[in-house]
Parts: sequence; structure tokens; C-alpha cells
Amino acid sequence: MNDFKAEPHELREAMLGAVRRVLESGWYVLGNEVVAFERQWASACGVKHGVGVGNGMDAIEIALRALDIGPGDEVITTPMTAFATVLAILRAGATPVLADIDPKTALLSMESASRCVSSKTKAIVLVHLYGQVRSMDGWVAFSTKYGIQLIEDCAQAHLATWRGKVAGSFGAAGAYSFYPTKNLGAPGDAGMVVTQDETLAQRACRLRNYGQSVRYHHTELGLNSRLDEIHAAMLTERLKWLSEFTERRRQIAKAYRAGIHNPAIQQLAAPEEAEAHVYHLFAITCEQREALQTHLQQQHVQSFIHYPIPVHHQEPCRTIQHDPLGLAACEQHAATCLSLPCHPQMSDDDVAQVVAAVNGFRAR
Ligand SMILES: *Cc1c(COP(=O)(O)O)cnc(C)c1O
Repeated sequence: MNDFKAEPHELREAMLGAVRRVLESGWYVLGNEVVAFERQWASACGVKHGVGVGNGMDAIEIALRALDIGPGDEVITTPMTAFATVLAILRAGATPVLADIDPKTALLSMESASRCVSSKTKAIVLVHLYGQVRSMDGWVAFSTKYGIQLIEDCAQAHLATWRGKVAGSFGAAGAYSFYPTKNLGAPGDAGMVVTQDETLAQRACRLRNYGQSVRYHHTELGLNSRLDEIHAAMLTERLKWLSEFTERRRQIAKAYRAGIHNPAIQQLAAPEEAEAHVYHLFAITCEQREALQTHLQQQHVQSFIHYPIPVHHQEPCRTIQHDPLGLAACEQHAATCLSLPCHPQMSDDDVAQVVAAVNGFRAR
């Protein structure tokens, strides 16, 4: 599903150079490399501020807390996401409320989200699952209509663009993860909050560093969630390759969309425009997923499930609030979805092998 060792030699050399640069600088946490990467990433997202943090989960928690969202407040989100999305809401002290998904895209259903709104709702955390950014005019209108904050979980949607605007720039804040397997990943944990709002950015800067305003003055109780120089420096090098890598992901997805024809397999809806999907993952659905996965394995094709157990079935979340009509579409997706290999180091032959293997599957 990923092959870091097959990355271009030039990129690996540049990363080693970045490591050397940091070691020789003698400054390791929150320094010039972090500031430089924050500026570049904010600018790529089309916003004024980027605040480097420890990981993507902290980016969501810090964005919520910087917006004064916490105990007593409800935050609507999707159960079809990485557990971190919901854990971040809980860590901020707020109450997550799960809305169902649209089966055609596996993204949050606006109808279901409307049913989850109450007088306590303060925000919606929209997850750009698999790399898809959709209907952002609708979601911006939704947050305006209910007077709630829009926070984007962009951990799977690095620089996905919808009508000329980049993921993370639509609402109050965007949360990025640079975990190794993400479209832009560090060789370790890293994340960022992006925002247009200076006050929010300043508060996020305090929150990531114990709630410290100036050295040894703590104005609130924050986290230790700082970005390391070594990761920022390597991310700066990796960013130079991102658009090329994203283009390759789109080519692979295009080949899958055109090449996969199997009555036992369904594809998700095509993106509203080409740039609105960065294919962090290429997910399909199949009623006989287990048999399909076994078949693919026999054909030497790896696959993963994102995600097999929805949040409301996780042990600590059994009593979590959700849409009163239930989460049937999410249940169905969790039982049938499968992610095919889709990463920039795949060759055309690799892609053809996946297509042939998928098309060769016979449902029983
Ligand atoms: C990876 C991911 C996160 C969490 O990011 P970390 O850096 O691992 O904390 C949050 N949300 C989604 C949708 C993710 O894919």
C-alpha cells in the first residue's frame, strides 16, 4: 500500500540534507525550519496562518480549543473516519455527535447532519475522507445557517482543491496530519492547523506549547504538541514533490475508474472536478469483501479496509450520540469497503496488475 524505499533517490538525498541542516543548526524544536514550513504550507493552502503541531489529532483538538469549544458543547462529525477525529473532539472536552454518511461518497450526509443539530451544537468537523472535497458551498452554508464553526479534517486531502479553494481554507480552521503514510508525510509524527484568523492562530500557538504566552507565563492549560525542526525541514523537501505525487495518484485512480469492470464491485462517485480529489485512498465496495480480499491476496495485491469498525462500535464509544435515525449507510460501508493500492511509486504494470486482479474476481 506504500513503498517509501522506492521513492526517488533525489528526494531521499534532499531529506538527508535537511537532517544535516538541522543537526548543524543546533536548534531542534520550534525554530526557523518550522516557521519556514508553516509559511509555505499556509500559503499553499491559501490562508494566512499555519501553526505546526505534533500530529493531526492534536491539530483538531487545538483548533477546537482555540475556538473555545469544549465541555458542554456538541460537535457533529462522521463515524466513517480515523478514530483520531472523534478522539480529538473528546480530548477537547466536547461531545461528539455522529451523523450518517452518503453511501455514494462515504462522506458526511448533510441531511443526517441537520438531524444532529441541537441548541448545544457549536461546530462540525468535516472529514475529507479518502482525499475527496465535495459540496463545500453547501457545508459553508450549513455552518452559517446554524451559526456553528466549520473545521475541516484534511488529514487525507493534502491540497485538494474545490472551485479554486484548497482544503482547510473553507471554514474557521483546517487540521492537517503529516503522518508518514499521508499524501505529504514526515518520517514521524507531525501536523498543522491552518487558518485565516490571526486570533485563532495565536491561541493555537499558545495551546501547542503548554498554554504559554511568553516564556514561563502560562495563560491557560495547553498541550505539549510542538513540531520538530527535523520534521519541518524534511517536510519542506517533500513538499517540492507533492504536486507530482498527487498527479500520479490521480493517474492511477483514472486507470482504476476506467479499467475496473466487475458486477460484484462498486466504485464511489467520481469527484465533482479533477482537482477535488487527491486519492489518499482508492476505495471500492463489494458485498463479498472477504472473498475479494482473499482473491487479491492470491494475486499478490495488497488491500486494506478504511474503516472496518465505525466509531460508534469502538469499546469506549458505545454510548456516543448519533443521528436519531441511525447510521445505516455507515454500517453498510464499513462492512463492504476495501482500499486498493494507490501510491505514487506504483508503476503502470503494478496498476494493470491490480485492475486485472480485481476484474478476475468471481462472486459466489
Ligand atoms: C490520519 C488521520 C488523522 C490523525 O492524524 P495523526 O497525525 O495520525 O494524529 C485524523 N483524521 C483522519 C481522517 C486521518 O486520516
